[in-house]
Amino acid sequence: EINDTLGHTYGDKVLKKVARGLKHIRDEKMFLSRLGGDEFLVLIEGEEDIIEIENYAKKIIQIFKDKCMIESDEIYISASLGVTRYPSDSNEVSQLIMNADMAMYKVKDIGKNNYMFFNKEMIENLKEQIHIGKILREAITEDGFKLVYQPQVCTYTGKIIGFEALIRLKNHNISPDVFIEAAEENGMIIEIGRWVTKEAISQIVTWKNKGLPVKPIAINFSAKQLKDTNYIAFLENTLKEKNVEVKYIEIEITESIFLDEKEETIVFLNRLKKLGIKIALDDFGTGYSSLSYLTFLPVDKIKLDKSLCDKFLEIENIAVMDNIISLAHSLNLEVTAEGIEDMEQYKRLKVAKCNYIQGYLFSKPVEALESEKIYGD
Ligand code: C2E
Ligand code: CA
Ligand code: CA
Ligand code: CA
Repeated sequence: EINDTLGHTYGDKVLKKVARGLKHIRDEKMFLSRLGGDEFLVLIEGEEDIIEIENYAKKIIQIFKDKCMIESDEIYISASLGVTRYPSDSNEVSQLIMNADMAMYKVKDIGKNNYMFFNKEMIENLKEQIHIGKILREAITEDGFKLVYQPQVCTYTGKIIGFEALIRLKNHNISPDVFIEAAEENGMIIEIGRWVTKEAISQIVTWKNKGLPVKPIAINFSAKQLKDTNYIAFLENTLKEKNVEVKYIEIEITESIFLDEKEETIVFLNRLKKLGIKIALDDFGTGYSSLSYLTFLPVDKIKLDKSLCDKFLEIENIAVMDNIISLAHSLNLEVTAEGIEDMEQYKRLKVAKCNYIQGYLFSKPVEALESEKIYGD
């Protein structure tokens, strides 16, 4: 499949360039056809050598490497290519096309401009995705989700300063890591994200009505929810409707949110901030985190990932932790350490002046009702 940003304006001209490029590498074994739109089918006959097949794939990708000029505009195009083999992958034409399609979508998922061979796991994954998709659809229409709440504790006073809301399926034992990822892939994360927001705000109302001292709830916001362009309006309306102050809702994002539409994301976060919502950068210390990020991101807090916190007690890593925390403080950011399970870690984090801790040492995530019991400190 051809990925061109300007496809609408230049559609046919881009296609001509593609056709010319493919013609160029064409040989007697190779047949080309256009499946429709920007999708093409390349059939290579009688080639069993994987290296040779790969060479074809590389050549096809190569066609698009250079920028091209169309009507004096520079444009960039790329291709995503899925490869499947007859008869080892399947001996049915329709299945083969589906295989190639699955592999092609995988390429698109992980960054385009590349090729990938189909493998049987892709079918298993697809089945799993469909299965989880059904469960999620049922859960959203039939009240099948719930939130549990994990306290966040002030390192100095030992008191609960707020909770993180974590989603659960009521009737299935599937980890949120798994079903949230599925929801991100099938788009349901948007609906689920709104449900979480509404439910957390309702919980604040419940605490209020019971006369408990209200504490902020942090909710997780997936990068894919940026597609929900009316989210902020929805959040604002829900708060208003339920008469809940903005300061009681905090939003946790991960760095992956900055991967794609960087500027758009910063605009979005600034709008949230302007509204008065605090933003925490979750899973800090995994992935691409770079400390320099912190100087320009509109966040209020960082959450040190469990994997990082687990290493802190080893002598050689203590300095790293101290530095991260003091750098964050110098940028006016608060720091929460996540996944704290033992007392030694807690003591050391206190020395490092880490503001908050969250972890099994203090409490696992608890049911809404249970949260009220540990509430009073
Ligand atoms: P996360 O946001 O990093 O959440 C922290 C995870 O660490 C939670 O797992 C929590 O139960 C677990 N945890 C907390 N303290 C400890 C500890 O001391 N030891 C250990 N071993 N684990 C601890 P959980 O609830 O399974 O959630 C997993 C992930 O699923 C979350 O990671 C988050 O990325 C995602 N998730 C959960 N709820 C939501 C949601 O409502 N919306 C979105 N978009 N994602 C969510
Ligand atoms: Ca396309
Ligand atoms: Ca989180
Ligand atoms: Ca985390």
